[in-house]
Amino acid sequence: MDSKKGGYVCKGGKIPDKNDLAVINTYTRREFKAGELYTFPVVLCDNEADRDGERFSLSAIEKLSQLFVGKTGVLNHDVKAQNQTARIYSCRVEKDGSRQTSCGETYTRLVGMAYMPKTNGNSDFITELDSGIKKEVSVGCAVSKVTCSVCGADLKNSRCEHERGKTYGGVVCCAVLDEPTDAYEWSFVAVPAQREAGVIKTYDGKGVKDTEDILKKLEKAESCVTLTKEQCGELLAKAAGLEKDAAAGRAYRERTEKDFVRYAVMAHPLIPEETVKRAASGIGIEDMECFTDAFKKQAGKELPVTPQLMPAVRGSGDDENAQFKI
Ligand SMILES: [Zn+2]
Repeated sequence: MDSKKGGYVCKGGKIPDKNDLAVINTYTRREFKAGELYTFPVVLCDNEADRDGERFSLSAIEKLSQLFVGKTGVLNHDVKAQNQTARIYSCRVEKDGSRQTSCGETYTRLVGMAYMPKTNGNSDFITELDSGIKKEVSVGCAVSKVTCSVCGADLKNSRCEHERGKTYGGVVCCAVLDEPTDAYEWSFVAVPAQREAGVIKTYDGKGVKDTEDILKKLEKAESCVTLTKEQCGELLAKAAGLEKDAAAGRAYRERTEKDFVRYAVMAHPLIPEETVKRAASGIGIEDMECFTDAFKKQAGKELPVTPQLMPAVRGSGDDENAQFKI
């Protein structure tokens, strides 16, 4: 299962020290000097439950600390500013003994150190990082195990009766993301999001954008997807809206098809009505509108001089045809 979470750049952007430089230079093609580089820390994930009701297990955070090393981050999605990337050269797991998570664990977060070359092109970007304007990043990884924090049910392949966010016997229900198998490229996000306890969500609230995000999540899914109750509601609402649109579309097609048949047999009385009906069922709505329009005009011209065409209006009896009835 793919998991996309919010992370953020924290304080501590700097020119690399000797130790950093030694590690960074294992990634570069030539030896870089400290003054040519800029490094900054990124909080990639933590063990607090986010608004999706998901949290990483402590062992997942440890594993991710290996998986994220070497992963690049896209600094700017602007096409003109392509190739502006930073790379994570080291990760550390930080514990904050003074803080407990809602699940009663010591607050633990994964911090990646990223480096980027200092160039004329990205000096503005570094200023934005230092000033805290650029901050939020989107971080993705794949996990192979998702369990319920209350009953331990395997949520990738089954469900349980526990509702996320609710407390059962003192245990807050959340989906525990475990056994990460891969970490993906990370990127700066354009829209700053509300962050709670170090984790921001990639979607929340209501609206089309959110539905798109949910659908994206479904598309990317390798196996099971866990949706919150809110997200399910949103998808159902979207489906109901589409069903309504579809019903209106079907009704419109039905009306157009009737007109198509009516005017076709009026304009071309030698073609049997059944044949016209079969033809109608096989053509697209736009073509049908085009044909109907032409047949209507043709029928208008033909009809007055071909009174034997009267049977062509059989069954229709609409007032619309009154002008053709002789
Ligand atoms: Zn459960």
